[in-house]
Amino acid sequence: MQLTAVNKMPTAFSRTNPFQAKVHKNVNLNGTGSSKETRHIELSLNSSGLSYVPGDALGIIPQNDPELVASLLEEMEWDEETPVTINKEGDTLPLKEALTTRFEITLLTKKILQQTVELTENEELRKLLLVENANQLKEYTYGRDLLDMLRDFGPWNASAEKIVSLLRKLTPRLYSIASSIAANPEEVHLTIGAVRYTAHGRERKGVCSVLVAERLQEGDTLPVFIQPNKHFHLPESGDKDIIMVGPGTGIAPFRSFIQERAVTKTTGRSWLFFGDQHAALDFLYQDELEQYQKDGILTRLETAFSRDTEQKVYVQHRMLENSKELFGWLKNGAYFYVCGDKQYMAKDVHNALISVIEKEGTMTREEAEAYLNEMREQGRYQRDVY
Ligand SMILES: Cc1cc2nc3c(=O)[nH]c(=O)nc-3n(C[C@H](O)[C@H](O)[C@H](O)COP(=O)(O)OP(=O)(O)OC[C@H]3O[C@@H](n4cnc5c(N)ncnc54)[C@H](O)[C@@H]3O)c2cc1C
Repeated sequence: MQLTAVNKMPTAFSRTNPFQAKVHKNVNLNGTGSSKETRHIELSLNSSGLSYVPGDALGIIPQNDPELVASLLEEMEWDEETPVTINKEGDTLPLKEALTTRFEITLLTKKILQQTVELTENEELRKLLLVENANQLKEYTYGRDLLDMLRDFGPWNASAEKIVSLLRKLTPRLYSIASSIAANPEEVHLTIGAVRYTAHGRERKGVCSVLVAERLQEGDTLPVFIQPNKHFHLPESGDKDIIMVGPGTGIAPFRSFIQERAVTKTTGRSWLFFGDQHAALDFLYQDELEQYQKDGILTRLETAFSRDTEQKVYVQHRMLENSKELFGWLKNGAYFYVCGDKQYMAKDVHNALISVIEKEGTMTREEAEAYLNEMREQGRYQRDVY
């Protein structure tokens, strides 16, 4: 709880009034030579009054990369001290601070391009926005940012204030909580994959994940809030079995689930499917998970490392290989959870699950889908995908 100076009433921390959490730990979970960088961070919630349950997420209020902000100021020869309006109420901040803390500068949208067309004589931009060039426009915005646009379509007849007014507000990033507060009082842990890619000749960095990977030191603070997730949580009763599919950073909430079940000494069985590229470099939380398995807290642990074999193996293949046992668990009332990549993994796992039910339950595809729908209605099929 925080006491406000005016009325001395306790104020709960929230998205609009985030808590400054101290960083206790920030380490890379991947081995040297991995193509991935996954940060494990531990934050203190000491004297915040904040709490959470397994399945909840933590929101982080990020800041933009100072190097990118400097490149923008240099490109446009803007004075970093120029006051710019940052909200509807008319509050202002110096330009450099506003670009760092208030606006999305790595995201380019069709709307921004449509609005900036009035601010330049550049014919190329006008052409790009013609209805018949919709595909080129989509292609242009993908992987490009504000700096690209300002470089590509000048000269500009607009003030910094005008251009900034077209930008989207910098939004908090959410991360599935990777700890149980019962196991780690006054702490919250996260598992964050650094987003880095090269596009159009420049190295690009995810705003929040790379802030954590490159600029956040132990001892620093980070503005955070709890984002409850009513649709992703452990069964109320500890005697229910759980099946968890969480490759890559999808492991995060399941570390929380397992820690919680270890503390509360539940009797339900737990089965985890984890996957990533290489066993030697990318087996996140390997020691902990193997220890949980030895201790009987994790009943089964299936792994799939896609780049260790000629034929790529993913978590859904492990589900299919274990279809008989998997269906046995489902018939017995197990809860099925999926976390991680929405675009490919969650769809593949969904289809694999239907195949398992179809095969082992000797059902038609439609019957298997209906079975899964029923599980969903009973809250026994839950997803936290992004
Ligand atoms: C409920 C929830 C839980 C989540 N839990 C976790 C978690 O536990 N761990 C975790 O790491 N993340 C998690 N995420 C994702 C996280 O919130 C962020 O989206 C992620 O960290 C990227 O944020 P960023 O600020 O680093 O990148 P941003 O600056 O937001 O950039 C990401 C964007 O870059 C673009 N992009 C990425 N790669 C490419 C490419 N190759 N080419 C072109 N464009 C590209 C995409 O448009 C992408 O949306 C979760 C999301 C949600 C909604």
